[in-house]
This record gives sequence, C-alpha cells and structure tokens, in this order.
Amino acid sequence: MKTLVLVDVQNDFMPGGALPIARGGEIVPVINKIQGKFALVVSTQDWHPANHKSFASQHKSRKPFETIDLNGLEQTLWPDHCVQGSRGAEFHKGLDMRPTEAVFRKGTDPEIDSYSGFYDNGHRRKTGMAGYLRERGATELYFCGLAADICVFYTLMDGLKEGFQCAFVEDAARALDAKVFEEAKKKMTAKGARIVASNAF
Ligand SMILES: [Zn+2]
Repeated sequence: MKTLVLVDVQNDFMPGGALPIARGGEIVPVINKIQGKFALVVSTQDWHPANHKSFASQHKSRKPFETIDLNGLEQTLWPDHCVQGSRGAEFHKGLDMRPTEAVFRKGTDPEIDSYSGFYDNGHRRKTGMAGYLRERGATELYFCGLAADICVFYTLMDGLKEGFQCAFVEDAARALDAKVFEEAKKKMTAKGARIVASNAF
C-alpha cells in the first residue's frame, strides 16, 4: 500500500521561522496536489520541550550550528525551534492536514534529538511509527518535507532499515544545505531508495 510520509512541514522550518529552509513554502502546494493519490498519509512533527538540549540557548557560550557531544552523540546546536505548543511548531497553515491519519511527534526527550520520525538519534526509543505503518498494511513509503538533508533523510533511512520500500519525492522537499543533500541522495539510493518526482503520481 502506497503511503505518503510528510516530515516536519512546520512553521519554524519555513522562511520567516526560527530555523528556516530556503524555499520551504514551495513544497506545500506540491504536497497538497499529490496527497489524494495515496492510500494513507501520516505526518511527523518536531515537538521539543523549551529546555531541549539541541538548542544552543541551553548551553553557556554556545552558538547555533556549533557541534557538541550530547550524552555520547554528536549534536549540532540549533536555534530554539518547534517548541511544544508554539506557533512555530504548528503545521504550515496552507498544508491540507485532512488526509493525515496519524501524527508522530519526535524530539520530546530534552536529552536527545530526533531527526527521524521512527526513532531518536541514538535509536534508544521508538515513536511507534513503524509498528503503526505495518499494522495499517503500508509497504511502499514516499517521503517529503523539511529538511530534505536532515529529517527527511534520516526518516527515510530508518524506513529502509525497518524493511519498507522507500522513495524520496524530490520536488516536495527542500534541503538546509545543498552539499549535504547531494551526499544524502547518494546514501539513500545506495541503500535501495528511489528518487521520484511528484508528477509521477
Ligand atoms: Zn528539532
């Protein structure tokens, strides 16, 4: 069964948000156009407590985009973003959320970040998304959203590990860093993911 996974289509990742991804808003009409072609649509939502340790503001004399060791894992520090209950954490208002049947929130533990919608960055705790998708009969997953080189990438890679067929809908995603994105695409395809365009549906 064909399933669309919308990754973090939230205000803070849009131009004008706390952690903006250039041209992020352009994906919203593309997603709205293709959603109806899928038997199932789910969303992930970055959902941090205000004291999340991925925030540079939680570390003395640290700035966003510096790297630290956080509980044994390399952690990029970010500006405060997607704080639980904030406007920045809400989905883009233009995104039609009616087709989304389940939302998987991630990044809720202040001690560990979660780029993937399946598990945290240490693979310590699952969100339950893999079990949900299996129980619903999902086999082919199509990923889109923000940021293509980080949360979409890690979610897709975990989807492959979980045994799903995975594809990346390139024009329904935007990357934070173009170079990192090129590497990410190579890694995805090397592990068996397909890269497709929205007009394929
Ligand atoms: Zn985050």
